[in-house]
Amino acid sequence: ARPDITLRVATDPTATAGAAIAGKSGGDDVPDHMPDLEDIAPLYDAKSENTALKRYKSDYVFSLSKNKQYWNKRATDLITWDNYPFDESSCDGIMTGGFEYGDVAWFPGAKLNVCSNAIDRHVQNGKANDIAMIWEGDEPDQVLKFTYADMLRKVSEIANALKSQGVRKGDVVTIYMPMIPQLPMTMLACMRLGAVHSVVFAGFSSEALSSRIAASKSSVVVTADVGMRGGKTIPLKKIVDDAIGKHACKDIVKKVLVYERERSIVPDGNIATDGNAKCSGNTPQINWFPDRDVNMNDILPKQRPYCPPESMDAEDASFILYTSGSTGQPKGLVHTTGGYALYAAHTIQTTFDLQPNDIFACVADCGWITGHTYVVYGPLLSGGTTVIFESTPMYPDAGRYWDMVQRHKITLFYTAPTAVRSLIRFGDDIPKKYDLSSLRILGSVGEPINPAAWSWYYHAVGEGKCTIVDTYWQTETGGHIITNIPGVTPMKPGSCTLPLYGIDCIVLDPMTGKIIEGNDVEGVLAIRRPWPGMARTCLDDHERYLATYFRPYKGYYFTGDAVRRDKDGYYFITGRVDDVLNVSGHRIGTAEVESALVKHPSVAQAAVVGRPHVIKGEAIVAFATLTESNTEEDDELVKELRTLVRGEIGPFAAPDIICITPLLPMTRSGKIMRRVLRKISAGEADQLGDVSTLADPSVVDTLIALVGRYD
Ligand code: ATP
Ligand code: MG
Repeated sequence: ARPDITLRVATDPTATAGAAIAGKSGGDDVPDHMPDLEDIAPLYDAKSENTALKRYKSDYVFSLSKNKQYWNKRATDLITWDNYPFDESSCDGIMTGGFEYGDVAWFPGAKLNVCSNAIDRHVQNGKANDIAMIWEGDEPDQVLKFTYADMLRKVSEIANALKSQGVRKGDVVTIYMPMIPQLPMTMLACMRLGAVHSVVFAGFSSEALSSRIAASKSSVVVTADVGMRGGKTIPLKKIVDDAIGKHACKDIVKKVLVYERERSIVPDGNIATDGNAKCSGNTPQINWFPDRDVNMNDILPKQRPYCPPESMDAEDASFILYTSGSTGQPKGLVHTTGGYALYAAHTIQTTFDLQPNDIFACVADCGWITGHTYVVYGPLLSGGTTVIFESTPMYPDAGRYWDMVQRHKITLFYTAPTAVRSLIRFGDDIPKKYDLSSLRILGSVGEPINPAAWSWYYHAVGEGKCTIVDTYWQTETGGHIITNIPGVTPMKPGSCTLPLYGIDCIVLDPMTGKIIEGNDVEGVLAIRRPWPGMARTCLDDHERYLATYFRPYKGYYFTGDAVRRDKDGYYFITGRVDDVLNVSGHRIGTAEVESALVKHPSVAQAAVVGRPHVIKGEAIVAFATLTESNTEEDDELVKELRTLVRGEIGPFAAPDIICITPLLPMTRSGKIMRRVLRKISAGEADQLGDVSTLADPSVVDTLIALVGRYD
């Protein structure tokens, strides 16, 4: 029996915050662009009633018209502050600054510690023995469970170990670790000390790691001897050694703190396991540099298992994180302490309706913003149980996610469209083998989810009984900004639906920069006012921050994404602005053509780019991978695909060239890097730009050869 989502959401504090403060329901200032929600028929979700949407509308309007009161209420409901110098009657100073100079500050002067909000307060509030974290190792029988009390001890030990190696408030600590429990614990330990963590995804090369260490002038690097993924061993310490040896890092790194993976996952006295956690006892040989390297497993047992948390200013930097590099050189964004923590807790409780008894599995790596906000901070700040997943969806087979859902009775599951698309090819029978009845909400993030993939996720995984939340957001936004809310917003496959409370979304004309009012319109997506979770600057490059986000359209935050707002006011991300095609004067989003292509049963993934064309301005080049490992040229299939796009969108959108390819250029976070395809298609493969975040660099040569055949 699944919990009744509608009922649970109806008691969501968000829903009453507006009315409680305003003394009536809804604000008086209805923004012009507000969709008329009452006209939207609930789709695919018979549970959603118009009353829920009406409530959304009035709360949304309130959250904008009484914006500071709204965030004041959320801040006091969700965060335990050491000092909070605002109240309802004096919350004007809750936010200062604006987009012009990028000097936004939320809750300036307020004090808190994120780690003690994520752990200590739950221990103090009777939840010491609740499970905070379930670690699922690379092998399905490697499971560890940590209570909030365990977390407090373990994180304190790590914090004290960091301190013993000289780490202090404000220092930058680079974390290059596999998804073992000590990764989130090290992040939390940094937060406890007020040190700024910079997590670099452990799939990155030594080149990418060294540039990130150098950019942040991080004198301490935390790593592990090896990582395990899909049964393969990754020599992390060796990659760190190589990175530090590079010229860019000369004289920067003073300490390398190394966990031995095998020793780190042994269940010690108190930690619960599912009985099978194994240790092979084979610690791999690694090089030690005695003046620089410190073995964490040797120094941890010496540490006191309590460490007092540092009280931080709300606007102190809490972490640095790089974007995926889909559209250019990755940007090192700086997030705050108070605004970020509030936004993490606020969004997970709104979008996922996270309750303390939920088992939340966000299968992203901690190296991405999704891992920061929804593996670590969101769930723990909310007192939930979070799953740390070390492996891949294909290991040992394509049933791994569902096997894990069944074993841990996961209630909320969060993954990316690319994972869903890669699982579809194995058929519905795989999820059918497992008991998935614990699931109530399924999330999608990272790219638009094509209706075909949405439908599979909804039916084959959710058995038609789960809400799918299509969460649109960015590294820069800190948390979700546009998404449906379970039990409130009726779903539309392929649409991230409506803005979250407090997020003032607008559509701009890309040429004039003017706001486009009304529905059934297209343009670029922007935000009109600051929100607590937004990144405050690019690391050591405020100019780039202003140039990227605030200068393109004066007065607004520019997302870089193209968007369509349909007749019901629902938002559809149609692609990156840089990728939008212009064919004979028609502006076409990449997502729409790609969605049409993946409707074909033989197509697994598709990517579409434009290349210069003398008459049409741009010609459309489509790349598609197939569901079978058949990569043979097939004229019949190519014809069918063209007909499909013609029928779905219109003749003007039919691709001029369709390349069937064995693989696409993907970022390490699983997104399609269209700019690589664009350059190759235009014959400019010598100007690819920064491809350090490409998952498999060999794809470039394959594609050059492939495209060459069409010239
Ligand atoms: P870079 O900024 O370096 O080019 P990136 O934009 O891929 O990399 P992220 O911050 O990881 O880096 O991704 C944010 C982007 O992902 C969004 O701007 C949007 O294009 C896309 N995205 C994320 N979630 C969704 C979603 N639910 N629907 C559509 N697009 C999404
Ligand atoms: Mg981006």
